[in-house]
Amino acid sequence: MNHSNAFSGNRRRFITTAGLAAGTALMAGVVPGCYPVAETPKIWKDMPLTLRFRPYELQLRHVFTLAGSSRTTTPDILTEIEWNGIVGYGEASLPPYLAENQASVSSFLSMLDLGRFHNPLHIENIMDYVDAAAGGNHAAKASVDIALHDLAGKVLGQPWHRMWGLNPADTPSTSFTIGIDTPEVVREKTAEAAAYHILKVKLGRGDDRAMIGAVRAVSSVPLCVDVNQGWTSREEALELCHWLSEQGVVFVEQPMEKSRRDDLAWLTARSPLPIIADEAVQTFDDVLPCHGVYSGINIKLMKCGGLRAARKMIALARDLHMKVMIGCMTETSCAVSAASQLSPLVDWADLDGNLLISNDIFDGMTVLDGKVTLPDRPGIGVTPL
Ligand code: MG
Repeated sequence: MNHSNAFSGNRRRFITTAGLAAGTALMAGVVPGCYPVAETPKIWKDMPLTLRFRPYELQLRHVFTLAGSSRTTTPDILTEIEWNGIVGYGEASLPPYLAENQASVSSFLSMLDLGRFHNPLHIENIMDYVDAAAGGNHAAKASVDIALHDLAGKVLGQPWHRMWGLNPADTPSTSFTIGIDTPEVVREKTAEAAAYHILKVKLGRGDDRAMIGAVRAVSSVPLCVDVNQGWTSREEALELCHWLSEQGVVFVEQPMEKSRRDDLAWLTARSPLPIIADEAVQTFDDVLPCHGVYSGINIKLMKCGGLRAARKMIALARDLHMKVMIGCMTETSCAVSAASQLSPLVDWADLDGNLLISNDIFDGMTVLDGKVTLPDRPGIGVTPL
């Protein structure tokens, strides 16, 4: 393949060549991702946006156990927004501990009239309308926001990380979660996760030192821990933070009940490890109250209402000099790929939700050598399988 000819030759050939080069090493004279949007501008017909949705059940690869409950599926709603024959994909993942379910999402989406909009690039106008339709309904709103971003990106012919000016090489490693279990099972699961460069260990419901010991018996990669509000004494929490920092742990997620703001602020001021809010932060309005109480926030599209809201949360958190993590629910590659478009902006990513299900229906972001890897495709980067 002759790249200098591709530059001076016909533009269609250049576009093909540049597309192939992206994702591989830089080739002389070819900058990955830098190519014209289209050879000739497309002429779009003036037509309304169409929103469709249907329920879907995510099948989990392993039984998911949280305190007091186990499940093998996660309810989900798949959305599509179509305009001029182009389809953008979105979804709402609905784990049972959240307030929303398939019925509430269906009724929220049925209420919307996206047909009043004729330009999918007016994301701010459209999402202002969706946000104002009713309070709450964050996962339902995220399903519209994600589909709309996918559609707008496809209309413009570019992935969102590129339009936001982000370098795909800046994506972080993603963590893989090790759940609370017996030392034998923990050792087994840790050994299976050898491809990951950071592991997230669930703590707070048993012998935390034994959990870390079992992981450390088979792995020396950096760890983060998620306590899910499980610690009760702030003094013991501080002692554990010191011990964990000696064990190669890099941060602690939601160590105590989110209502114990004074104790959390006390811990954050003294802990050698950053303390990250998860249960305490849902939407943009929760970011400012986390300042001074936590070192950083964990953003999830299903909690905050989508990419538009997540970007605003990241901007505010950075203004406040806070750490940022991006996470997910059990989801298809659709919502995970949408979140991954933002990942060059964050300190840590926990984007393993698509790997936890056996009936993914999208090809999108991948994890290569433990690192979030963005496909060179327009929109959020997904194609239906
Ligand atoms: Mg968490």
